[in-house]
Amino acid sequence: MHVFNAGPCLLPQEALDRAAEAIRDFQGTGISVLSISHRTKEWEAVMDGCRALWKELLNIPDDYEVLFLGGGASLQFLYIAMNFLEKKGAYLETGVWAKKALKEAKGFAGTKGAEAVAVASSADRNFCYIPKGYEIPADADYFHITTNNTIYGTEIRKDIDSPVPLIADMSSDILSRPVDVSKYSVIYGGAQKNAGPAGVSFAIVRKDALGKVSHYLPTMLDYRTHVDGKSMFNTPPVFPIYVMYETLRWLKAEGGVEEINRRNVEKAEALYAEIDRNSLFTGTADREDRSIMNVCFVMAPGYETLQDEFLSFAKERGMVGIKGHRSVGGFRASIYNACTLEDVNALVACMQEFEQIHK
Ligand SMILES: *Cc1c(COP(=O)(O)O)cnc(C)c1O
Repeated sequence: MHVFNAGPCLLPQEALDRAAEAIRDFQGTGISVLSISHRTKEWEAVMDGCRALWKELLNIPDDYEVLFLGGGASLQFLYIAMNFLEKKGAYLETGVWAKKALKEAKGFAGTKGAEAVAVASSADRNFCYIPKGYEIPADADYFHITTNNTIYGTEIRKDIDSPVPLIADMSSDILSRPVDVSKYSVIYGGAQKNAGPAGVSFAIVRKDALGKVSHYLPTMLDYRTHVDGKSMFNTPPVFPIYVMYETLRWLKAEGGVEEINRRNVEKAEALYAEIDRNSLFTGTADREDRSIMNVCFVMAPGYETLQDEFLSFAKERGMVGIKGHRSVGGFRASIYNACTLEDVNALVACMQEFEQIHK
């Protein structure tokens, strides 16, 4: 089987095996990780180890803290607005998730006579590209980007320069490539696209960027609570964090983020090359903005009626999760870190076989 699910994603088998063992017996304690107290030294070692792996893998500077939180990336949309929006939040509208982040900011801004604005949008062409040549307002409290647009298959792979604090939703490309963390005030996301299972989200926050707003922050929605509490102000999502920890250990053993980036580029190039070569298929995102994580394509003009047939054809050959999101249609292969070149080659072979039959 070849799993191309968009999220929750495929996780490395090694991490799953270790997590399964930890459910039975957590590190020789004789107790399941699901029942161990989160205040034990054994658990604290996992929290510390997990934070240390994040810092090592992404080269995170010392003035940042890595937080593990509940509520998914969707709750981080509100965290960002509440912790940073004083007068104006600026957003780059590059897809559904970016729109949802902006919606939360607008709603919150409305409660205090502030505003949240889209600086630029690619809605005019169904988010198939990343807007260019826009100007980031110098009076904004922050500029928010979504680096990888999971649904539309576009990606901002270069760390941009921003005159105001830069904040990024990196749910679906975190740990897939090197990032210059020092350029961002916050990088956040749900773990379930590349970093681990659903149930935990991460936030990499620059500590001195916090505490600058004048309004009341509810305890749980104040990043400082979780910095001070080392992500254990309340009971953390113990098991998702454990699986994330094992996923990060796997990533480190595989050679880290540089090596995984090399593999991710190789996989993406192989798949895009086939999409561009194969007369039956066509890519949906502009070439220069193509995502390395989510590869979106449709049947080429004249072949549209073959869509369902290709889906069942691919399914019979073991391809899982390649149906495109309903807002784009067609197909989407999510080729996150744990997906291998063999998986991609199997999909390529499947597309070639289909072409032989129908050309
Ligand atoms: C999946 C996704 C989200 C939503 O994540 P949840 O953890 O389900 O709230 C937000 N942003 C991006 C880019 C995503 O891919």
